[in-house]
Amino acid sequence: VDVDPPLQKLLQAVKDGVKNPGKGEAVVYWMRMEDLRTCDNRALSRASAQAQKDGIPLVLIFTVSPQDYVAHDRSPRRIDFTLRNLADIKAQLASLHIPLYVTVHTPRRTIPERVVALLQGWKARHLFANIEYEVDELRRDIKVCELAKPAGIGAHFVHDRCLVDPGIVLTKNGRVYTVYSPFQRNWLDRLNSNLKWIEEEPLPLPNSEDIYFNTTLKALFDVKIPDHVDGFECKDRETMRDVWPTGTEAAKQILARFLHTKARSTQMGPSNPLSEGAESSEKKARALVYKDSRDKADKDTTSRLSPYLAAGVISARECVRQAMKLQGLNKIQATRDTGLGTWLMEIAWRDFYNHVLSAYPRVSMGRPFQEKYANVKWEVNDEHFQAWKEGRTGLPIVDAGMRQVATMGWMHNRLRMITATYLVKDLMIDWRLGEKYFMEILMDGDLASNNGGWQWSASTGTDPQPYFRIFNPYSQSEKADPTGDYIRHFVPELRDLRGPEIHKPPEKVCRKLGYPLPLVKHEEARQRALRRYKNPGEE
Ligand code: FAD
Repeated sequence: VDVDPPLQKLLQAVKDGVKNPGKGEAVVYWMRMEDLRTCDNRALSRASAQAQKDGIPLVLIFTVSPQDYVAHDRSPRRIDFTLRNLADIKAQLASLHIPLYVTVHTPRRTIPERVVALLQGWKARHLFANIEYEVDELRRDIKVCELAKPAGIGAHFVHDRCLVDPGIVLTKNGRVYTVYSPFQRNWLDRLNSNLKWIEEEPLPLPNSEDIYFNTTLKALFDVKIPDHVDGFECKDRETMRDVWPTGTEAAKQILARFLHTKARSTQMGPSNPLSEGAESSEKKARALVYKDSRDKADKDTTSRLSPYLAAGVISARECVRQAMKLQGLNKIQATRDTGLGTWLMEIAWRDFYNHVLSAYPRVSMGRPFQEKYANVKWEVNDEHFQAWKEGRTGLPIVDAGMRQVATMGWMHNRLRMITATYLVKDLMIDWRLGEKYFMEILMDGDLASNNGGWQWSASTGTDPQPYFRIFNPYSQSEKADPTGDYIRHFVPELRDLRGPEIHKPPEKVCRKLGYPLPLVKHEEARQRALRRYKNPGEE
């Protein structure tokens, strides 16, 4: 399945496209679910430049595709986030006389025909879009190129999502790295020798007032953004709208909060990252102490930018530029020596998983990266799976994490690792079920990072170490939540427990408090996992 990665085919199709499509009457930028911003956006920047050069209007389109949302297990929360960010962008652009046209389209396989027909109807000769690295999306865009060519339309697909574009960070043998540390070193060298890659993309706005003389284009201003997508109604939309405010300005404030303000212990959530919490005893801003505090879930220590980065409401380039300003250095220092350096290394993980996804499409097709683990024997136990989802496993740290994600659509990274390894190694339930559930519930659900995180936890991914990755959930709990405040916050049944009991409540305390007993015994489960990974296919 990886023999012919579709990314290469798409890049070739773009190269083989129409060379001089002419001017036409409009230039179109096709916005995707991962680039919901107007500033620092490569495809939009190029579309704007083209429209300005040709002296014709710029038009934005967005295709809502319910079948894709089913195929990708998109969470209603993320879809609602998309729609409200689109509404924000539409309002901003209207004042610049640029329409954003949102269309709902089914079936998904005819989206290319629909988009090309729209361009023909508007007499547009140029289409610009940022590349999506998921296999279905790459195949869709290859088809767009195939249809655009005979229609005389130039289709321009450009890289934008990563700090370093896929295909550039390669081993000596010209292969994509499958181990993070050497990837990260090479990635950093590349970036530091090409700092222009992270420069802000200009937005040369075309003179679009002429658009009002074109009745077809003028009518696009009146097309409303849908309020919701049928089948994907967000049940807690008011809470989500409060917890995750809309728009690039909010994302920039959340970035500034991380870089310049101290962690607040009361902001565990569900709470808006910008709301004021009680004073904390920290001496330095979150970013500066990140190296030592990032694995602590009992304080609000990380950036909480993932929903904004996943949806492209803010660019990764902007994060790095602001971090560099704070570092006061003229090169990027992404090493574990400092808080900020450690944070930049986390952002490198985002690039790493996108590079893996674009080179090894099998990971987005439900296949383990390590084929040798394709036949590991999984338990089919709906009762256990349900208990995990609902935070009723009897393991306080796991239950706290699962309840956090249920209430706020986000979970601390260490907790994602603990809850994921618990599902896979302790309950021995197929990692793909956990991956799907996370996508359905997360606000920051992103195929590359979620799949990477799940395959890492399941030891089926890049760089696996099955033996060492069977976490002991009790010692993990003590490290991730040393005060116990995180568990007390999300598992109120245990709010009166103090000291070590909070991590492993005795049986009689559980019975008294109405808290479930552990579903499995960790040591037995660990032995079972070791056995099954060693001999895939066997009991
Ligand atoms: P910070 O610690 O402030 O990090 C800054 C940014 O770096 C993040 O916003 C994110 O964009 C990136 N980043 C950090 N850690 C990772 C990582 N391990 N892999 C990839 N990118 C990273 N992240 C998602 O964005 N979407 C997902 O669907 C997702 N699913 C995950 C599933 C599992 C099982 C695991 C173990 C991890 C998953 N992650 C996912 C990665 C990580 O947990 C989140 O990015 C992080 O918790 C977001 O919080 P933050 O913005 O405060 O992160």
